[in-house]
Amino acid sequence: MTKIAMKTPLVEMDGDEMTRIIWKQIKDIVLEPFIDLKTEYFDLGLEYRDQTGDQVTIDSAHRTIELGVAVKCATITPNAQRVEEYNLKSMWKSPNGTIRAILDGTVFRAPILVDCIQPFVASWQKPITIARHAYGDVYRDSEMKIDGACKAELLLTMPDGTTQKQLIHDFKGAGVVLGMHNLDDSIASFARSCFNYALDIKQDLWFATKDTISKVYDHRFKDIFQEIYDAEYDELFKTRGIEYFYTLIDDVVARVMRSEGGFLWACKNYDGDVMSDMIASACGSLAMMTSVLVSPTGQFEYEAAHGTVTRHYYRYLRGEKTSTNPMATLFAWTGALRKRGELDELPDLMAFADSVEKISLQLIEEGIVTGDLRALVNLDKVEVVDTEGFLKAIAARL
Ligand code: NAP
Ligand code: MG
Repeated sequence: MTKIAMKTPLVEMDGDEMTRIIWKQIKDIVLEPFIDLKTEYFDLGLEYRDQTGDQVTIDSAHRTIELGVAVKCATITPNAQRVEEYNLKSMWKSPNGTIRAILDGTVFRAPILVDCIQPFVASWQKPITIARHAYGDVYRDSEMKIDGACKAELLLTMPDGTTQKQLIHDFKGAGVVLGMHNLDDSIASFARSCFNYALDIKQDLWFATKDTISKVYDHRFKDIFQEIYDAEYDELFKTRGIEYFYTLIDDVVARVMRSEGGFLWACKNYDGDVMSDMIASACGSLAMMTSVLVSPTGQFEYEAAHGTVTRHYYRYLRGEKTSTNPMATLFAWTGALRKRGELDELPDLMAFADSVEKISLQLIEEGIVTGDLRALVNLDKVEVVDTEGFLKAIAARL
């Protein structure tokens, strides 16, 4: 059998623990027997990040800007315990944060839906994709506890030394205060990423803030989105037959609950944090959720939404068979391969990605599932397989 050819390599970012094991299994069992797989390999496993002083993460992100499409395995974000466990030179930053900062990207997350796993919201027929702004607001704020009477003010100091002041509150007693910010550039990048992604997946874009209450801060988000939409995207959206829709955050939440899904929901940083967990758990499991980072200039980095599944890895190290769900990591690969196929005009590669996804969904529909889905699927007969068994079943049908 001749293998499917590729032109441009994918940027391959390997990772840690259980997902590193699954990564190799996916390549060995599902991809390499069928594709002449071309990748540029970057080892983002914690040991090599430590050896290179995290340079490998930075290099992989820059290479993604050049090549356009990356696929990333889940990675450990070190904390104090990991520094000890891996004897690290430093508590390296989150690779996802580093890559996101270099690509200036927005993360899009969507559940993988199957008929036999009913979302808890009965009206949802199609996936709802969340786009979360990943900069600023309460995540980069400055907070203070107020112990007694005092006047809290906002103070701006210009480069020429002049100042501008505004009262926050004249405290008569104890309380709290916070200051936060965002940047026009970052909001504009977020807006463009969302408009581009909506065009890419051909779905309406919904965006909401609390601009009736936050008349300057949240209103700035609304205005930047609208200005960019009118100037750059109105025509494109009309040609594609999709819509940009702005409303208030409380209104959008009510609408989402009554909707049948099938749209892109752009969220400010905090809203996205909260709402993506809501969507994920309403649809079943983090292992059934895709995630892609899109830059405003059109680079794509596909990954799983979950972490390195540490608890399963320790079981694996003890020699036990693990039944970790490979769907999210598998869909990261198929997403990246399909995008590469689209950019390089390789219909066979795109068709292959479609087949892998279709077959893996079929298996779940037939009740052939990993352990995490056992309690979720609504079927009479369920056969729980280990990760390798699930991947081999896909390969057999390919
Ligand atoms: P996690 O790896 O997502 O796992 C949390 C739990 O969720 C697992 O113990 C498992 O539950 C379940 N789970 C997650 N993915 C699963 C899958 N594919 N199949 C079956 N069950 C799955 O989160 P964590 O344990 O909080 O974090 C572990 C490491 O991952 C940390 O070092 C963290 O820094 C890193 N992390 C990386 C990323 C990323 O690179 N994108 C994201 C988040 C966390 P049971 O044990 O009950 O089966
Ligand atoms: Mg959260």
